[in-house]
Amino acid sequence: MTRYRTASVVTSCVALAAAVSAWRPHGCTQGLVRVTISILVVVFVVISVRRLPWRDQMPWQLFAVGHLATAAGALVSSLSGGGLNTQQAQLWTAGAALLFLAANSAGMAVLIRRWNIHRDSAASIESAAVVVSLSLISWVWAIAPADELTVAASGDVGVRLAFVGAGLLEVALAVLVMRGGSRTVVAARLLTAATFLSWFGSILHIAGNRPMTDDSLIAWLSNTLWTLAMLLLAAAAAHPSAARLGRPASTRPAHSVITLAMLGGAAILPPVTLLVDTVRSSATVIAVAVASMLLVLLLLLRVGQLLRHVQRQSNLLYLQANRDELTTLPNRRSWSEAAATLASDSPGEEPAAAVAILDLDRFKLYNDTFGHAAGDDLLRSAAEAWRRCLRATDVLARHGGEEFVVLLPSPDTEIARRVLERMQEATPYSQSFSAGIARWEFREPVDAALARADEALYRAKAEGRRRVYIAPSPTTTAPARHTAPSPVP
Ligand code: GH3
Ligand code: MG
Ligand code: MG
Repeated sequence: MTRYRTASVVTSCVALAAAVSAWRPHGCTQGLVRVTISILVVVFVVISVRRLPWRDQMPWQLFAVGHLATAAGALVSSLSGGGLNTQQAQLWTAGAALLFLAANSAGMAVLIRRWNIHRDSAASIESAAVVVSLSLISWVWAIAPADELTVAASGDVGVRLAFVGAGLLEVALAVLVMRGGSRTVVAARLLTAATFLSWFGSILHIAGNRPMTDDSLIAWLSNTLWTLAMLLLAAAAAHPSAARLGRPASTRPAHSVITLAMLGGAAILPPVTLLVDTVRSSATVIAVAVASMLLVLLLLLRVGQLLRHVQRQSNLLYLQANRDELTTLPNRRSWSEAAATLASDSPGEEPAAAVAILDLDRFKLYNDTFGHAAGDDLLRSAAEAWRRCLRATDVLARHGGEEFVVLLPSPDTEIARRVLERMQEATPYSQSFSAGIARWEFREPVDAALARADEALYRAKAEGRRRVYIAPSPTTTAPARHTAPSPVP
């Protein structure tokens, strides 16, 4: 890794020095500096990614081909006298730029295909929002002013459209790579940042070819942006996370500050464009209006997705907090809540209900004999079978381990006993349970009734299991009645 770090530092220094020297616009120096930097970056990227498996090198090789193309274009253009002074040099530069964009897009497409992220609608919406916003800027700065230009000075509208279109495609793919594949891979972020900078440099470059503009400043700015973009590409190739590019992402945080920043930035660009564009032709106004409407639609779509995601998460949290994972029955907390609701909703003539607690007999032995997984299966199957014996208003919950509780809205403990006998018969794999039933007066805490039921259960266990005992009510001192259809020997 030290080798890559050293190479990275050397390249950064050379490129930064080159960027500063690129201040002198036009002429051989600027072109040759770009050629030098491009070639350095290509060599650096190719060497850096040699540590990756052959398959993972392919996108980087495509990026390298793109930069070689830029180098070739810049070389021809600078040897021919610098800048875009001749039609031939201009064609070379445009061809090289298109090849650069095509190779980069192909590299991104390889990553997207490998990640299988083209089906990620969230990433697609984010990518579309960014592209709509950048299309507007491209239109206002690079395409609409075409009539101010002479063909010899800046190329025809067709070349500009191809240039801008290919640039936008690359940006769209880069956003997909960053947002869809793996939001946490630093190399993906560096790649996307490089694409944005390079796109912005290109738009400035085209805008700089307008009469009445400060050519030298814009030329320096676009060159500096291209240089920075190349540095970021080199950094992405050298970064350890480059090895994770193209591998399926294991965890995907759903939203982040980046989502907000990207969508917010996209949404704010149309009004900013209106403010900044002092010419404000009717075409610009229409473009801003169309872009704003599209962006609002895309943002609504994305916000809708985020809301659905939040809703799903909150449903999941609710289930996790209220359900027992193994049996999917309500858990103890949820059962207590149901009991409280029943008590507060039924202040009628008979403010009471029946509660029962049941415990599988000799479950430890079952586990030891058939294994823990079979024990789990018995718990699941028993819960399902018991649920079918109950009415919708009864609440069966897992109390913990192999203990379950039942809340029956009718206070008649005899009815409750019959229900529990039905559950006893339905218990799968010839297993049985012991149970205690208690009448629950709503004026007392439900746990007090459960404690009485537990005492009855304790007696049922002590007296041979596979039986259902009814606890005496707190006001009577009558002994517990019990049933024992077929006691376990
Ligand atoms: P008794 O008839 O007196 O109730 O005897 P028992 O064996 O059923 O009771 P004991 O309390 O000795 O053992 C309960 C066992 O239940 C021990 C524990 O490993 C097992 N158990 C608790 N929760 C689970 C679970 O989620 N899955 C499985 N498979 N076993 C569990
Ligand atoms: Mg137990
Ligand atoms: Mg038990």
